[in-house]
Amino acid sequence: MTKPVRTRVAPSPTGDPHVGTAYIALINYCFAKKHGGQFLLRIEDTDQVRSTRESEEKILDSLRWLGLSWDEGPDVGGPHGPYRQSERSAIYTEHCNRLLNDGHAFKCYCTPDELASMRAQQMAAKQPPKYDGRCAKLTQAECAERDAKGMSHVVRMMVPNEGVCVVQDTLRGPIEFEYSVVDMQVLMKSDGLPTYHLANVVDDHLMGITHVMRGEEWISSAPKHLLLYQYFGWEPPVLTHLPLLRNADRSKLSKRKNPTSILYYQRAGYLPAAMQNFLGLFIKSASEEDEKTSLQELIDGFDVANISLGGPVFDTSKLDWLN
Ligand code: GLU
Repeated sequence: MTKPVRTRVAPSPTGDPHVGTAYIALINYCFAKKHGGQFLLRIEDTDQVRSTRESEEKILDSLRWLGLSWDEGPDVGGPHGPYRQSERSAIYTEHCNRLLNDGHAFKCYCTPDELASMRAQQMAAKQPPKYDGRCAKLTQAECAERDAKGMSHVVRMMVPNEGVCVVQDTLRGPIEFEYSVVDMQVLMKSDGLPTYHLANVVDDHLMGITHVMRGEEWISSAPKHLLLYQYFGWEPPVLTHLPLLRNADRSKLSKRKNPTSILYYQRAGYLPAAMQNFLGLFIKSASEEDEKTSLQELIDGFDVANISLGGPVFDTSKLDWLN
């Protein structure tokens, strides 16, 4: 039996709601709805310094404004909120311990100075920056000795010395990564909070996410994530890395060229339907480009294959004629 489709958008609440998040949310929403599935919202707020509740509220508000309501949350029964990683620490700790016990992760006691000198040596030798694995060789007794001295540590994942990881991306096909260039990623910080990589994989699995559709800046993280799925013995989701929105000159979208906060468009009086239409232009086939479309029509016509890898151009002059 095939699993019901479940997608998610997983913003970090570290600023105003970004049009890039809305575009990724729209794609995940349309894909889930097209397949009779569910769309989830997960707030990735493990970075306690940069995350704020104010930013989270604005993200929630902008998704509601755009009509992209999420299907479940921790307080199902009432007006459910989103999943929040900051409320799920115990789950990540338990999974991190599982990796440690199985030998798929190790405690790393290296100080910032040691790491800096490791990087300097690698740069001098023109090697890619990568943790050299020295703490992976510590015995249990050596770790216990360091723990007894109160030395702080992070937890890093093991990475095979050799071999190739093949990431199957829906839009790009197979992408090969040599394990020799994959870093031994920190999974748990010294404050006991998980990094994006651990929390994201654990949550996607526990939340039954079947399709991960996220920004292309995460492609290089995919080999680490696939290794984690393998270590846990879980089936990975289908991966699609979406081209980022660009300015008309193809440079990375910046607020100097166009407002990038959804709040701007809300406050300027644009209708949500105009914004849906505008963002929807990027997921329609070229022949349909000029037509106005409702959210339901976007869902019905949604096909991942229509997403152009060239990078969708965020040209707000189009938004004006749509309004
Ligand atoms: N928190 C990440 C972001 O804001 C999520 C990436 C993902 O979807 O896996 O980009």
